[in-house]
Amino acid sequence: MNKDLSLVRNIGISAHIDSGKTTLTERILFYTGRIHKIEEVKGKSGVGATMDHMDLEREKGITIQSAATFCQWKEYWINLIDTPGHVDFTIEVERSLRVLDGAILVLCSVAGVQSQSITVDRQMRRYRVPRLAFVNKMDRSGANPYRVCQQLREKLNHNAWLVQIPIGAEDHFRGVVDLLTQKAFYFDGPNGESIREEEIPAELAEEAKSRRTELIGALADFDDAIAEKFLADEFVSTEDAKKVLRRAVIELKITPVFVGSAFKNKGVQLLLDGVSSYLPAPDEVENDALDLVNSVEGKEPVRVVLKSVEDAPLVMLAFKLDETRYGQLTFMRIYQGTLKRGESITNINSDRRLKVPRIVRLHADEMEDIDSASAGDIVSLFGVDCASGDTFTDGTVRLSLNSIYVPNAVISLAIAPKDKASQTSFSKALNKFTKEDPTFRVSRDEESGETIIAGMGELHLEIYVERMKREFGCETIVGKPQVNFRETLTQRAEINYTHKKQSGGAGQFARICGYMEPLADAGDKVYEFHDETVGGSIPRNFIPACEKGFVEQIKKGLLIGAPVVGTKIVVNDGLHHAVDSNEMAFKTCAMTGFREAYASGKPVIMEPIMKVGVEGPEEFQGTMMGLVNQRRGMIVGSSGNGGYCQIESEVPLTEMFGFSTDLRSGTQGKGEFSMEFAKYSPVPRAVQEDMIKKYKEKRAAENK
Ligand code: GDP
Repeated sequence: MNKDLSLVRNIGISAHIDSGKTTLTERILFYTGRIHKIEEVKGKSGVGATMDHMDLEREKGITIQSAATFCQWKEYWINLIDTPGHVDFTIEVERSLRVLDGAILVLCSVAGVQSQSITVDRQMRRYRVPRLAFVNKMDRSGANPYRVCQQLREKLNHNAWLVQIPIGAEDHFRGVVDLLTQKAFYFDGPNGESIREEEIPAELAEEAKSRRTELIGALADFDDAIAEKFLADEFVSTEDAKKVLRRAVIELKITPVFVGSAFKNKGVQLLLDGVSSYLPAPDEVENDALDLVNSVEGKEPVRVVLKSVEDAPLVMLAFKLDETRYGQLTFMRIYQGTLKRGESITNINSDRRLKVPRIVRLHADEMEDIDSASAGDIVSLFGVDCASGDTFTDGTVRLSLNSIYVPNAVISLAIAPKDKASQTSFSKALNKFTKEDPTFRVSRDEESGETIIAGMGELHLEIYVERMKREFGCETIVGKPQVNFRETLTQRAEINYTHKKQSGGAGQFARICGYMEPLADAGDKVYEFHDETVGGSIPRNFIPACEKGFVEQIKKGLLIGAPVVGTKIVVNDGLHHAVDSNEMAFKTCAMTGFREAYASGKPVIMEPIMKVGVEGPEEFQGTMMGLVNQRRGMIVGSSGNGGYCQIESEVPLTEMFGFSTDLRSGTQGKGEFSMEFAKYSPVPRAVQEDMIKKYKEKRAAENK
């Protein structure tokens, strides 16, 4: 890509469902010349309409639904990146937020700030993504952009300022006034494609003027020159104001608010101008990577800031995989350097090297083969076998972008295809999902032989079950969701065990001495194994068998059969017998030795604790806090403004089943909540005893 980086924008559009994200995206593609016809995007409810919607998508093949679409607006290159609306898909959301440099927050002019907007906005804040707001559906009855702007301030804590005001509203919505230029804009032609600029209608002139002054007043906070002029009542030029506004947006200090109606073809082009004017270019955002060469395991990783330039070593992230009718597409965001067709690249995660077979840029309805692309660009590759989230470089550096935190899978359920015939598509689906999403895990319960899927939350797993049906035509039977507990030692336990068997024929003999203890700074580490034997007390070739025995045993702890994590196991002495010792004997010895020693390590059960945010009207504050408290929850903070309150808390996941129903009924449907993984903590003593008892009863019943 030989494009002036200052003219590139990588943006996402986020919205609460039904606010008009799809319609807006379509209009953007139309005005940028990517699609040539505006098709009706019908609502998602209602018979027939849904059908149309699906047909529409099918017709366009790779389209507005794809992970990234390229378009040009005036001299700007814009990559529209799809941002999943769902919070349960933590990893997907995090990845897409990572690759975009700015975003448009679409809000309905009537419904305003809704629950999904709140959650997505919180994530965007965490990733420091600068935002513009677009108050859509100005043609709807009850439209009120001033109220929505106020909600942006109160509910989302944005320093939100209208940069436009509507001319008329509801049925009479005709166009918009741009406050900085003090001009009126109308959108003529069958699709609003021709823009007519005029003087502000007389009845709005006064208001437009005073609102411009207010806006300048807001900008005065960020710039001394503007502040001086503002105080002296001098005119601030549009150009000066835009510069300061741009800077403030990029620093996340202000959110400009645009108005319009995507459906009625009004205001979209001016919003695109806003994207070009106020959202950052790729080199105005700082991105860093982990330096794998200079980082030491267990220590804070060394971070390096990437340079958005063409002539630095290549570093790029595979942020999304898509199965298309042309084969697998891998979406890449290039952070540094240049990617060229035919050259070799290295996958840092798998250490594999491969040739770049084909680079394409996806337009709405076609794709364009390109020879190269560079820093700041988003492109897709064909024929690359990798996992979503993998980092690629040119091989001269070992940098990883994979600092995206992969949270623990906290919930799991048993799943099986409904009939034997679907077995193949069942495996195929699982294969694809695990590749796409590292937080989605598949395993097999060795005792029951069941396939277990694990993930970030109930909804996360439900979505995959649904996708299995839709995309792979595979109906499934699923078990009840189970919380993923763990066990861990709290103190050192000595291991000293002799395994002996002499019942005729060849005997079995092994002795293992050592200890196990909690691993310091274990993080997510399951175990560490150290061989400290001297003088061949246990012959070299039997050491792996010892490790195997321990590993086998830590898969199922003895308290409730949960995996044992964070254990350091040391073998420092032992005995063997010239004839009767073999691998089997040492493995069995390790397993039994572990079991014998386990209790003296004072093991505890650990449970996932979730960060739960609850919000709703102030009058329900007491109720909402009560709901959290009842669930062994701990309130870590609460805030309120404008009659609305938000509670931050930490609640054990086990207690969260049924929370949404209780919240709804306790708040007349007005309360909303979000939830994400926080940490693992020991369960309280009494709960632990109860769990152990139940586990024992269950085992006893099974063994009868
Ligand atoms: P999404 O769920 O956010 O992608 O929303 P859609 O783009 O699918 O729009 C949801 C519904 O709102 C559809 O019926 C659209 O036709 C309608 N819609 C979208 N934009 C507007 C608008 O500006 N005005 C009105 N009145 N309806 C709109």
